[in-house]
Amino acid sequence: MKIAVYPGSFDPITWGHVDIIRRIAPHVEKLVVLVANSLNKKYLFTPEERKRLVGEALAEVNGQPISQIEVEIFSGLTVDYLRQRNAQLIVRGLRTVSDFDSEMAMAQINRKLYPGVETVLVYASPEYQAISSHLVKEAALLGAELQGLIPAPVERALQDKFHLNSSLPSPPKGK
Ligand code: ADP
Repeated sequence: MKIAVYPGSFDPITWGHVDIIRRIAPHVEKLVVLVANSLNKKYLFTPEERKRLVGEALAEVNGQPISQIEVEIFSGLTVDYLRQRNAQLIVRGLRTVSDFDSEMAMAQINRKLYPGVETVLVYASPEYQAISSHLVKEAALLGAELQGLIPAPVERALQDKFHLNSSLPSPPKGK
């Protein structure tokens, strides 16, 4: 089976990430969204929270889980995960020229660590290009309106984290 892996912090997932996932999924047999748990990075959300929010964000778009998409937490090197899954394709999103520099370096290192692995860079859609998890967190902390940047479950999770008053309706029971 041709498995592609989309690794990232997803701290938290934004519409930009969701867009990449939705655009790539039809081109592969399985897409693993790999939630990184790096020991030397500080995250706002725990790995389990980030994983749950990826699932909820995708369900928000699709109405039900997409069987072809898996969400996993991984603490090691991305290439080690790929080896375990016998996968050879990494998907990353590209927003800006500065993304390009770091993505190219990462792709080259990954190929050295795991010859045969390929990285596919997917251009951000113009409407999501300016969105980053970092900016979303800053804006949420200042109480900004985040509609259009992040799915509703993520907005609620940010409001909970920052103890802000939610104007969003709670999801129906069972969701
Ligand atoms: P990381 O810390 O590994 O960069 P991120 O969660 O910030 O993790 O991003 C994961 C991937 O998604 C990266 O390749 C990043 O460039 C891409 N990405 C982030 N935001 C967007 C966006 N708005 N549109 C397209 N790609 C994006």
